[in-house]
Order: sequence, then structure tokens, then C-alpha cells
Amino acid sequence: MGDVNSAEVPAPGSPGDAFDYVVIGAGSAGSVVAGRLAEQSPGRVLVLEAGPADHAPAIHVPAGLMKLDPDKLYWRYEIEPDASRQGRRDLWAAGRVTGGGSSVNAMLWVRGNRADFDTWAELGATGWDYESVLPYMRSLERFERGASTVRGGEGPQRVSLVRLAHPLVKRWLSAAHEAGLPFNEDYNGIAQLGAAWSQLSQRRGLRHSAARAFLAPAVRRRRLKLLTHAIAERVLFDGTRAVGVAYTVGHQTRTAFARKEVILCAGALESPALLLRSGIGDPDRLRPLGIEVIADVPAVGRNLQEHPTITLTFDVTERTLNQELTPLSIAGAALDFVARGRGSATAPLSHAVAFERLHDAGWPTYQAMFSPMATSRPEPDVDADSVHSKQGVSLAKGSVVSTFISLLHPKSRGSVTLRSADPRQPPLIEFPFLSDDGDVADLIAAGRRVREIMGAPSMQSHVIAESSPGPGVQSDRQWEEFIRATAHGACHWVGTARIGAPDDPEAVVDPQLRVRGVHRLRVVDASVMPTLTSGNTNAPSILIGEKGAALIRRASGATETSRSLASR
Ligand SMILES: Cc1cc2nc3c(=O)[nH]c(=O)nc-3n(C[C@H](O)[C@H](O)[C@H](O)COP(=O)(O)OP(=O)(O)OC[C@H]3O[C@@H](n4cnc5c(N)ncnc54)[C@H](O)[C@@H]3O)c2cc1C
Repeated sequence: MGDVNSAEVPAPGSPGDAFDYVVIGAGSAGSVVAGRLAEQSPGRVLVLEAGPADHAPAIHVPAGLMKLDPDKLYWRYEIEPDASRQGRRDLWAAGRVTGGGSSVNAMLWVRGNRADFDTWAELGATGWDYESVLPYMRSLERFERGASTVRGGEGPQRVSLVRLAHPLVKRWLSAAHEAGLPFNEDYNGIAQLGAAWSQLSQRRGLRHSAARAFLAPAVRRRRLKLLTHAIAERVLFDGTRAVGVAYTVGHQTRTAFARKEVILCAGALESPALLLRSGIGDPDRLRPLGIEVIADVPAVGRNLQEHPTITLTFDVTERTLNQELTPLSIAGAALDFVARGRGSATAPLSHAVAFERLHDAGWPTYQAMFSPMATSRPEPDVDADSVHSKQGVSLAKGSVVSTFISLLHPKSRGSVTLRSADPRQPPLIEFPFLSDDGDVADLIAAGRRVREIMGAPSMQSHVIAESSPGPGVQSDRQWEEFIRATAHGACHWVGTARIGAPDDPEAVVDPQLRVRGVHRLRVVDASVMPTLTSGNTNAPSILIGEKGAALIRRASGATETSRSLASR
């Protein structure tokens, strides 16, 4: 090993180890990267995951979402006060467990719109247009209805339709049709627009995380080394060559060396923070923190994007899952769940979705997600004791249903920067959700459309009253007040290390996902998306892992395995 920068070298005597690849983060993308690389380089891949293994049963039983332990399974970030939302300060909670977001998310499987990927390519992400990524979308998934020209039928990631046909969901789909949103058999197929049953990352009614799909088989066959509770602090460099990672387990600092590459898969909030702590960023901001500059890449941490979301709730005449998701009734349905993977225990948050275009654009403007239950209203202020109330996933009382409405292509941009060089300090996150008046206007229009669905014949007679925002909200001004008071995020953070052409100053990685200005270091996770996709971001993150792994393997001269080529 060459002359490693002395500022980066851990204390003498620290245990060190050498692998071909060191992958930081076993989340949605990291699980894919590690699992795929282990197919090619068995025994030579190390994965460092800050969180624990995914043993908690509540991770795997979908209805357990409400029971996930916030202290053990999440990173929790207090974002800076948001002037565009009355100075509110949200708590963002990201998965900190094997599987990352895919182990704690709401399991909705949305691949995105053709126009999303074509836009990425137009922004300089050559090779990421829809036709180019489609083979990877197909090779990664195994859709329960089988393969087609656009769907995968043989991949590791199981995708199934919602397994609980609640009567109100059927009615909502009919009502959407009556309101002008025709039924769509497969929004992940040829066309995305319309209303549809939700598709989920589930296998026989159990959550199927990226860790279960891609990582667990490699761990079982001892093809890679997964270290949990291992927190990467910074990437180590020999000049501008990434040579390893300094990480901690408990109070012990260790080093892992990478003979080929270090791959950052820590998600769109932690990957930029790791780059900055490792000396890759804006020199004028790194030096005052005492961080030695390795590469001048000012765009690191910029371009943070998130889907602003509002929730409409309605009191209804029929029983909803609020009454059915009790420990007693889940226990009563246990046999159905174990034997057939069916019943209320399989319930996700969103049972049906609709995508509608309000402008002349290639993609939908908003996504509506219908739930035959309602969660408690997200609290405006940070309460460190309960991430769940902040995430809106504790159940409300009574017969209530809700529709979450996400604006899919907001114009607001935020940033991730460092408070200090200390890896124990969380990054500083700024995100002005509603800084663009056009975004607010689109949310108002979308809110009105959802009201139209609830007022359509198939649904109307089942609605007692709109409980939030309520009939008092009618004018644009009243809607805007409601939106600024209640809009929240969707946990869809992307864009903080975006792909772009090599000469684009706003790019952090090139289309091969290699970090500018250094060697043997890539970012492969949601950070690299140039723009948000039209929907939830788990499937696109897994796609980035799948294509990223192929790029890495190709760079090391390996041909793709017959398995990953089989379904192309
Ligand atoms: C509560 C919630 C609900 C969501 N619902 C949905 C949904 O229904 N459908 C959908 O499509 N998307 C959903 N998402 C979003 C989706 O899950 C994410 O976009 C996706 O998981 C991002 O993948 P990633 O690989 O970029 O990051 P992650 O999956 O977050 O993975 C990052 C991993 O890196 C680890 N890590 C971070 N820093 C370090 C470090 N320093 N050292 C070692 N390890 C580290 C983390 O612990 C984590 O395991 C949701 C997300 C959340 C949090």
C-alpha cells in the first residue's frame, strides 16, 4: 500500500483487513451492489452497515410498520426550520438497519416514468435513458404476474399486488374512474397514468426488502462479509486514490482496505456527508472545519430533492383497517397469514394509487395514494421521543380513510452540509419544501382532484365527512394555509451527488457513478438521481444498485453472469 495520507491513518495497531470492494451501507442500493459483486468476487466484498441485522419480526410482517423501534432502526435528523412552512422543523427518519429504507418503508413499488429517465439522460446522465435502464429494471424484479416486454419475471426482487381487497379500495378505484382517472392494470408497465391497485415489495405477504432479495443469499453462501453496527467515518485516500475506509464498531476504530474500489451506498443524506468528511466538496467550506481537501467538488450535498406531500382524511360509514389492525384481530387472522400470506397483517399503507398529469408534460404531476385507514396527523414540531408520530404512522381512531398526495416534480431544492468534521454529528439538512408558488398551486389542484374522487358516485355515499382539511377549506388562500401548515415529506430524499457530464459543475459523479476528481470511488444510491422520479424512490434506488453493479463489474473486466442476463 502506498503513502496513505497520514491525517487519515487510524491509530497504530488498529485491526485492518483487505477486500476487493468495500461497500458502505447495506440499504436498498447497497444490498444490490454487494450481492451482485459477490457473485463475481466471492469472499472479496465487505459491507459496512451502521444498523443492526433485520431480525425484528415487525420488519417482515407488513402491518408491523407501526411497531418498528425508532431508537434501534432509524437515523433521525432534525431538519433546519423551514420558512416556507411557518418555520416548522421536521424530523426525517431513514432506515438504519440491513436493507436500509427497503426494510422500513411502506413497500410501494413504483419504477417511475419513461420521461424521468430520459430527462436524466438529457441532463448528462448518458446511458440512463429509459431504453438503457429497462434491461436492468427487468433483470432485478420478479413480478408475480410474470415477465413481459417491460416487466421482469426472474429477478431476485419479488413484486406483488396488494393482497387485501378492502371494499373501500375497490370503490375508490371506481370513483377515480368516474372522476376521469381510468383504471390501469399495471402502472409499472407501458403507461403510468390512471388509477391502480398498489404493487408492493412483498413476497407471499411478507416484506421483501432489498436485503432479503439480494444480500441474504450471498451472506448465506458466505460469498461476502457483512459487518453490522459498523459506522463508516471517512474514505481513506492515497493521493486521490480511494484505498479504504475508516470505520467504528462500538468504541473501536478499524480500517478496511479496498484493492479495487470503495462504493458509497449510504443514502442521499449520509453519502454526501461521508464525501464531505473525506475531503470531497467545496474547499471554502471544508477548510474552516479542519478537513483536508482531496478534491474540489462544490456540488456535493447540493440539489437535495424531496416529494412534498399532503394528507386528506375522511370519516366513512364502513369499518376500516383502523378498527381491524388491532393485536387481537391480527392474531385472529394469523392462520390465514401463515398459510396463505393473506389478511390484514399483509396490509401496507397505500392500497391503491393514481397518477395524473395536470400540465402538458411527459410525466404525471402528482401521485395519490389511497389507504383504507388513517394515521395520526403529523405533528408540526420535533418530538424526539416519537419518530412515529412525526412520520404519521400511528393509527387514528374511528372509521377513517386517507389519501396521501405527493407532488412528483417539485422545483424546491435543499442541501446537505456538515456541522463539523465529527462523524458523530448529524449532517445539517436544509429543505424549503414550498419555496415555489407553482408547487403550492399544483398541490392545491391535486387536493381538489382528490376531493372530486371522494365525491364521485361510487365513493360519495360512503363518506360521512371530510375531516382534514375539512369543508371550511375552499378558496386558494385557505388551501394554501392548510398546505403550508401540514405539508410533510415522503422520505424520498435524492439528488445530493447527482450524475452529470464530466464538465458539468453541478455533477458529483459521472455516468459510470465515479466521483469526480478522485479514483476508485463511486456513489451508488439515491444520491445520484439528477431529478426525482415520478413516484416512490425504492425501486429506482434498487435500479441504480443493479446498473451500478454492472458498471463496476464491467470496469473490472468481468462479463455479466448468465443469471443477470437471463431475463434481458
Ligand atoms: C419511512 C420510509 C417510508 C418509505 N416508503 C417508501 C415506499 O413505500 N416505496 C418506495 O419506493 N420508497 C419508500 N421510501 C423511500 C425508499 O425506501 C428510499 O428511497 C430508498 O430506500 C433509498 O435507498 P438508498 O440505497 O439510497 O438508501 P438507504 O436504503 O437509506 O440505505 C442507506 C444505508 O446506509 C447505511 N449507512 C448510512 N450511513 C452509514 C455509515 N456512515 N456507515 C455505514 N452504514 C451507513 C444506512 O444505515 C442504510 O442502511 C421510504 C423511505 C422511508 C425512510
